[in-house]
Formats: sequence, structure tokens, C-alpha cells
Amino acid sequence: MNIGFIGLGNMGGPMAANLAKAGHNVTGFDLVADVPEAVTKAGSAAEAAENRDVVITMLPNGKILRSVAEEILPVMKAGAVLADCSTVDVESARAVAAMAEAAGVLALDAPVSGGIGGAVAGTLTFMVGGSDAAFAAAAPLLDVMGKKTVQCGTSGAGQAAKICNNMILGVTMTATCEAFALADKLGLDRAKMFDVISTSSGYSWSMNAYCPAPGVGPQSPADNAYKPGFASELMLKDLRLSQSAAVSADADTPMGELAMRIYEAFVEEEDGRGMDFSALLPRFEKRGRAHEEI
Ligand code: NAD
Repeated sequence: MNIGFIGLGNMGGPMAANLAKAGHNVTGFDLVADVPEAVTKAGSAAEAAENRDVVITMLPNGKILRSVAEEILPVMKAGAVLADCSTVDVESARAVAAMAEAAGVLALDAPVSGGIGGAVAGTLTFMVGGSDAAFAAAAPLLDVMGKKTVQCGTSGAGQAAKICNNMILGVTMTATCEAFALADKLGLDRAKMFDVISTSSGYSWSMNAYCPAPGVGPQSPADNAYKPGFASELMLKDLRLSQSAAVSADADTPMGELAMRIYEAFVEEEDGRGMDFSALLPRFEKRGRAHEEI
């Protein structure tokens, strides 16, 4: 297929490279990042999108996605697919789908989980919103970049699934880290704590697969001085998206809100920026109960 790929950063770069490796003809554009080998460099987003069968975007946020969509939709061919794999707000995903429909282009929101490792290995999970026709056209490409795809519903459903998943992740990681800090203060050995919880009803992906305590459980960013992995500021971005969606949908999400406020303090007022999101454990470890702020 002839593919345009816009946004070739940490995630988009290896995703585009995998498509080219699989034999597709990929033309890419990024304002800053280098174009991977085997991907043809375009001079603008519009040039990358013109006459392609599928255009994939992997951009930082909904505002940038909307402006790129405004630029490329007028030059995309009728019946082509615009598949956005970025994590953005549900409203932007739906607005871009409406703009695409008006331009005669099929649209998908197809955010991913699996991180940079999954993007490089081609083992991402895609959660997809949009029509069956758009999905059918893009599915072979999602299969190259990922190992699992779930069709979640109409436009915006992929983003809804993504922010709900990451809201749970932010909450369980916070709970796992504060429980380790409590166990420390109660004199419980961390390896014993892991042994019990990872096989008891407190288990979760945060404990079992991504344990925030160094030297305990499987290898994780905790064993590499909390170098990300999944950076705290990206978790904060996703928790903010979940809370703004909760406000507009009138959903009561007190745990998600509290996790957002904790990551906000960690990233904006403490030393959390650039640290893995499991670095809440050393944060809790340093603190007692005597503080006014969160
Ligand atoms: P990144 O910052 O490395 O890449 C984004 C790229 O978009 C940058 O290279 C930037 O130059 C480019 N860009 C910005 N504006 C542009 C424009 N107008 N035209 C062309 N290019 C433009 O970020 P990333 O880690 O690759 O993440 C991309 C998206 O994937 C985000 O929405 C993020 O939330 C999501 N995501 C990231 C991860 C992860 O672990 N990094 C995991 C899942 C989802």
C-alpha cells in the first residue's frame, strides 16, 4: 500500500519503519524527528498525505492532530483512510472523524498500548473506533505494527478504551507504590510482599508485570533507576484526558482524579518529570503523613 506517516517520534518512527520493512511504500513527515531508513521523506504533512491509500498520524495531542487534519484532508484522495494512532481527547477524535467524513475520507481512532518497546517489536495493541469499512482497509497495517487489535465501536471508542485503561493503570500503580511504602514501615520484606500480593487478590499488572520495587519481581524500570519505560508526564497526560472526558460525560471518577492530582504534584512540583511512572514508590518512601499538599 501507499502510506503517509505523520509524526515520526519515539513511537511513530519505529511504527513507520516496520511498515516499510513489511514491503509497504511509506512516505513520512515530522517537524523535527529524522525519517527512518526505508521511509521516503516528505517536505510537509500535505505532501506525505497526498494520493496515499492510508495516512497514519502519531502526534503529541488533539490540538496538533486537528491542525494536521485540516492541512491534509483537502489533499487526501476520496475513499482513503486517515488512521490516528496518537492518544488524544475523545472530542478531538470525533471532530477529526467528522471533518474526514465531510472530505470523503474514512477515519479511525486507533490509539495503542505497548510503549516504545511494543512499537519497535511490532507488538502493539490497537483499540479502534470507526466504521467497519475504515477498519477493513487499515487492519492489514495494524497487523504489521501490532499483535492485537480490538474494534471498540464508532469514532472515539478507541480513545475511550485507551483513557479508561490508563486511568486504571494510574490508580493501581499509585496503590501498589503506597502499599510498598506502608509495608516498608511495617518492617515487611519487599520480596515477601511481592510473593504474597502477586499471588493474592491485590495483584495487578502494576505489581506482577511492572513491579515498582527494584530487585523484586520481573525486570522493570525500577531496576534501571526508574528510567522510563512510561514517563510520569505521559501518565499525567492520560489521567488528565480521562478526567476531562469524565467531566464532559458527567461520570464520577474520584480515584482517577486523585491519581491525576498525585502525578500532577510529582511531575510539576517535585522531581517526577523524566522518571518512570513507577517512581511514585521512592516518592512515598520519603514521605510521612505530615504534609498539607497531596
Ligand atoms: P514524541 O514526542 O516522541 O513524537 C511526536 C512527534 O510528533 C515528534 O517527533 C514531533 O516532532 C512530531 N510533531 C509534532 N507536531 C507535528 C506536526 N504538526 N507535524 C508533524 N510532526 C509533528 O511522542 P511519542 O512518544 O512518539 O508519542 C506519540 C503519541 O503516542 C502521543 O499521543 C502519546 O501519548 C502516544 N503514546 C505514547 C506511548 C509511549 O510510551 N511513548 C505509548 C502509548 C501512546
